[in-house]
Formats: sequence, C-alpha cells, structure tokens
Amino acid sequence: MAILKIAKMGHPCLRTQAATIDQIDDDILSLVENMIETMEDAQGTGLAAPQVHVSLSLLVYFLHHKSCDDVPLTAIANPIITPLDDVINYDWEGCLSVPGLNGVVPRYSNIHLSAINIETGNYFEAEYQDYHARVLQHEIDHLQGILYPQRMDDLGLLVYSDNLKHGMPEHAKTLIKLGNHQKKQ
Ligand code: ZN
Repeated sequence: MAILKIAKMGHPCLRTQAATIDQIDDDILSLVENMIETMEDAQGTGLAAPQVHVSLSLLVYFLHHKSCDDVPLTAIANPIITPLDDVINYDWEGCLSVPGLNGVVPRYSNIHLSAINIETGNYFEAEYQDYHARVLQHEIDHLQGILYPQRMDDLGLLVYSDNLKHGMPEHAKTLIKLGNHQKKQ
C-alpha cells in the first residue's frame, strides 16, 4: 500500500479522457488499494484514477452523509451515467484536485449507472438519486477530463472554503433550497 500524489487542477492528466479497463488484474487491484489509502489519507469521499495520474476509467468512493444511507467503500470501473430525467439540484462540492475551494454545482438528481464492480468483477446496473448521484457524477466527470468548476453556472459561487465561516452567499442558499424542483435549462 502506498499514498499516491494527487494531481491538482491544471495538470494535463485531469483534462484527459480516461481509457476503458479491459481486465481487472493484480495491477488494477493494487492501484485500487493505493487509491483507497490515498483517499482516506486526504479525507476525501471519492477519488478517480486520473487524480493520481493514472488515465484509467476507475474510481473509489464511499458515502457517509446526512442526506442518504451510508454506502460502504466501493470501487468501480468503466462507469457510464445516463440521466433519468431533466431534474437537477444544486449543492456544494469540493475536490481533492481543487484544494481549498468549494463551489455550488448543478447535477442531475436521478441517474442510471452501468459499471463493473471491482470487488466482484461483475457488471451491474443501478439507479441513484440526489447526493449519491452527485458524488458519482463528480467522480465520473474526472474520467472525462472535467472538473466541477467547469459544471458551475455561477462562478460567483466558487469560494475559498475558509470563507464559508463568514456565511454562505444568499444566492447559494436560494439555489440549494430550490432542491429538486429545478429543471435543466
Ligand atoms: Zn474531484
């Protein structure tokens, strides 16, 4: 096990389309272990392989959040997301590759996911909502070379995390309160 170096915004590996994984071999399993250790060390909730300079379609995440049921540590490969409808919601995001900042990002509320579960080696399909769907969209964006600020529609809501102690921008409160009632423009 090893803690890997995390790439930061601007590094070419974060704007590259990641390659599909053909076979889950020992190298992939070892990479997954190191990604988990790196994510835990950095206190993230998700980490995609391009964030550790590996351009493969692979990510790890777990959920422990007030808004949804706990999801244990999960590693998936070759994920494909399809929105189930046009409903979006806004909430704060942060990213280990964009340290010190947070932004309010619109995401689809309801998604369909197909992927390979690394633990079982099996292909699966599932549907997810809200926070779970948000984390997956954030991580899968990394596999397509996209960082969350590129998904924002108001860069006035990109702030230094330290400054959130002074209170949230009023506009952010309004957007987040609108919750799931927004339709994608
Ligand atoms: Zn990220």
